[in-house]
Amino acid sequence: MSDNLLEEIFIKRSQQKKKTSPLNFKERLFILTQDKIAYYDYDLDKGKKKGLKGTVGIDKIKCVGTVQPEPSAPAERQYPFQIIYDEGPLYIFAKSDEVRKQWLHKLKHVVRFNKDLMQKYHPCFWMDGMWQCCQQEVKQAMGCRVLENKNVGVSKGSRRQSRKPLPPTPEEEKPLRPLPPQPPEEPALTTGMTVVAEYEYTPSTPQDLELRKDEEYIILEMSDSNWWRARDKYGKEGYIPSNYVVEAGNELEKFDWYCKSMNRSQAENLLKTENKDGGFLVRDSSKAGKYTVSVFTKGGETAGNCRHYNICTTQQGQFYLAEKHNFSSIPDLINYHQHNAAGMVSRLKYIVSSRAKNAPSTAGLGYGVWEIDPRHLTFIKELGNGQFGVVKYGKWQGQHDVAIKMIKEGSMSEDDFIEEAKVMMKLRHENLVQLYGVCTKQRPIYIVTEFLSNGCLLSYLREGLKQHPSPIQLLEMCKDVTEGMAYLEAQQYIHRDLAARNCLVDTNGTIKVTDFGLSRYVLDDEYTSSAGSKFPVRWSPPEVLLYCKFSSKSDIWAYGVLMWEVYTLGRLPYERLNNNEIVEQVSRGHRLYRPQLANDRVYTIMTSCWLDKADERPTFQELSVTVQDLLYELQ
Ligand code: ADP
Ligand code: MG
Repeated sequence: MSDNLLEEIFIKRSQQKKKTSPLNFKERLFILTQDKIAYYDYDLDKGKKKGLKGTVGIDKIKCVGTVQPEPSAPAERQYPFQIIYDEGPLYIFAKSDEVRKQWLHKLKHVVRFNKDLMQKYHPCFWMDGMWQCCQQEVKQAMGCRVLENKNVGVSKGSRRQSRKPLPPTPEEEKPLRPLPPQPPEEPALTTGMTVVAEYEYTPSTPQDLELRKDEEYIILEMSDSNWWRARDKYGKEGYIPSNYVVEAGNELEKFDWYCKSMNRSQAENLLKTENKDGGFLVRDSSKAGKYTVSVFTKGGETAGNCRHYNICTTQQGQFYLAEKHNFSSIPDLINYHQHNAAGMVSRLKYIVSSRAKNAPSTAGLGYGVWEIDPRHLTFIKELGNGQFGVVKYGKWQGQHDVAIKMIKEGSMSEDDFIEEAKVMMKLRHENLVQLYGVCTKQRPIYIVTEFLSNGCLLSYLREGLKQHPSPIQLLEMCKDVTEGMAYLEAQQYIHRDLAARNCLVDTNGTIKVTDFGLSRYVLDDEYTSSAGSKFPVRWSPPEVLLYCKFSSKSDIWAYGVLMWEVYTLGRLPYERLNNNEIVEQVSRGHRLYRPQLANDRVYTIMTSCWLDKADERPTFQELSVTVQDLLYELQ
């Protein structure tokens, strides 16, 4: 199989390394892979790739984005985009906006974890020794425009605003000369942008602003990445959860058939539950930047079946499904297939959408809210008992589902935790259980979090799965955990107690990681000392067992064990060994066996997490790519 993510013939502008060198524009064949973008000389007549002309390593890329076309650009140079890396900008011209979007989408995905991604960029060309936007004459000059926040993540778990804004610099505060008007084709940049609400939001505090689905809002302030200040069409202002809106004009997000971060198993579940012939939805494919249409049929040979069709793109940037009926946009293509099966098992008869039901969780229950008034909580039922005492399911303000940990007195170093809670509140990712707030004015104190109706992953694996899980389903569970952990890793946040018992399962089967960092506040020697009976010895690497050295790499080890729990449907690791025997045998190189349900590829991932030397283990970012690729091959 080819490792090429994308291939396309583009016009490339010369890089003008010297101010006086003339500009030229040449057609080159561009090939994007996971680790580099390479461009080649190309024989147009023979349609053949010739010599390699240059490459840029993905890890060197600091920014990708569109560029405003030159004032009198010829037709073939209307859709430029830029790749900024350590040697400066690489300018490329796409044939159409669709192709450009496709490349930018994919590029943003592959660079999303790069270090030093820039917060600011230049919206116009570097030409003749000057940035055309701000007239700065130093090529390395900091960008003059803030990049849209969402640049750093476009896949599932997309709106992860993991990077802190750079400190202000003199250039930033005082541009040398006034800026030209904003280029029209970069819709979402910073304050002033128009967004559309994807979900309803009822204000929790007087500072919040109500969101009505599909209505437009103007963003006024984005200094808190989770809560943006916005204005509605009546002029009312307040804070809104930033993950409830998308930039206006982002055409797919506004269609009810688009279920962005839904995976294959979830799509199948939803379609089967709806049980409508011709029920369909469109979701992000497991291959980044691509889309899949999932359709359910009741009649014929494929009765009660789901089929998945990848939306393909032609050389010219047009879209098609089963047969070659090409369309210039995905909505046009869907519209056509709502009326014509044209090669599919059924026409797309009925939109199935989960969006209205499942609004994502917000970081906290309102802007700036982290102390919750216990009088606003109603307790409904007990969920279980943990290290800190009872956990209950309840409602906040009578309507929002929450889980409440009632912290048994003497079980937690409370002051330290309360300090840390402010940091934890800001961690927001679709695969992390959201901390909503705390009640600290009374004893016992409460920790209020997102509620997940399918409970703990370990019990779910042991008894909660309705039918025998498919290889895809097992890997999707692992993928969810990898994504949540990759986010924590990017925030340099160590979990310290990752295991299936510390993951929870949502109504639709999504897995979310919980209890990150909490172990630091446990007051119980049996739990905190590596010789204690409650210490997670079975999930710990040698350096933790021997020297208590925690790191993202010790989380990686634990992740390997968690994967093993998933593939054994919840067995106890090293079942026959006690803690002392585990310490001894693991330090001598003994490892968990390959579970029956895990093939060699899956087991190789697990064993890579259990390498003796911590720095030889993969990162979560790397695991995310590996798991994603494997998932893609399975579908
Ligand atoms: P602790 O981590 O404090 O030891 P747990 O988080 O394991 O306690 O909670 C005990 C049990 O309560 C879990 O096994 C799970 O079944 C249930 N539970 C905890 N948090 C939630 C939640 N957010 N949503 C649903 N169930 C939960
Ligand atoms: Mg726990």
